[in-house]
Amino acid sequence: MRLGALEAGGTKMVCAIGNESGEIFENVTIPTETPDVTMPELIRFFQERKMEGLGIGCFGPIQLDPEASDYGCITSTPKAAWRNYNIVKEFAKALGCPIGFDTDVNASVLGEAAFGQAKGKRCVIYLTIGTGIGGGIYIEGKLLHGMLHPEAGHVLIQRRETDLYEGKCLYHKNCLEGLASGPAIQERWGQKGEVLAHRPEVWELEADYIAQALTGYILTLSPELIILGGGVMCQEQLFGLIRRKVPELLGGYIQTRELENMETYIVPASLHGDQGIMGCLELARRALHGKVGT
Ligand code: ADP
Ligand code: ZN
Repeated sequence: MRLGALEAGGTKMVCAIGNESGEIFENVTIPTETPDVTMPELIRFFQERKMEGLGIGCFGPIQLDPEASDYGCITSTPKAAWRNYNIVKEFAKALGCPIGFDTDVNASVLGEAAFGQAKGKRCVIYLTIGTGIGGGIYIEGKLLHGMLHPEAGHVLIQRRETDLYEGKCLYHKNCLEGLASGPAIQERWGQKGEVLAHRPEVWELEADYIAQALTGYILTLSPELIILGGGVMCQEQLFGLIRRKVPELLGGYIQTRELENMETYIVPASLHGDQGIMGCLELARRALHGKVGT
């Protein structure tokens, strides 16, 4: 079965052709410009190749409710040219094949659940910590949507009293994305995270904020596995700090096998950076089999 996959990001689009086993035969990366410029290039890539379905993991917020008149739209994105753009409708018109559609982070958690370390798990969270922060949630075989889709990067965080940085989010003074995204690190410390590896205070504060958010997710969703990705998590020392901080914040209230083994509970992604695009292949497979929106 030949399937198409599109990881639609705010800065780049990754297009691939692969199969239902997550094998990728071919992929190309195209910069994200306006829909006028970028969409014809994407459509040409997929039209020139034979495939039975397409899976799209998209930056958002997006409309995922199949009953809504604007199903398939990118909604309130800060990228003005893509606001209210119906990406699914355009591909459906041009390609005429079934299309699976979900958030970029839901695609990543699906990739890990279908082909990676999250295989066989009932509840898994994938959090990316990069330019923005977003969370995908896989639960009982499906991707969690609810009334919209999770926006786990914007959960509110208790700011440390000594942290005078005002935050990077336009909507909230003290959400996780505002306090802990890559750009927040850069503004607070005056340098990009990439060159701050030798400053323990940077990562100790960062781990505190991430651990607060994870503690909330753990108590609310009871995940069996938490996967952390994105550029900021290239700072490997964060894993150790977060794994120590989360049990402190939980205060011993819950005891599980998973929490006793933090090294295998809070982990990096397992698919060499391909979890998103592989998840899009699985979205395509599911769309082809009529499981739209799962
Ligand atoms: P995006 O979120 O734009 O898709 P990334 O996940 O690579 O891309 O995130 C980019 C952000 O991560 C930038 O703010 C960058 O400074 C930060 N970042 C990238 N690599 C590192 C690193 N090794 N250490 C700390 N921060 C990093
Ligand atoms: Zn926010």
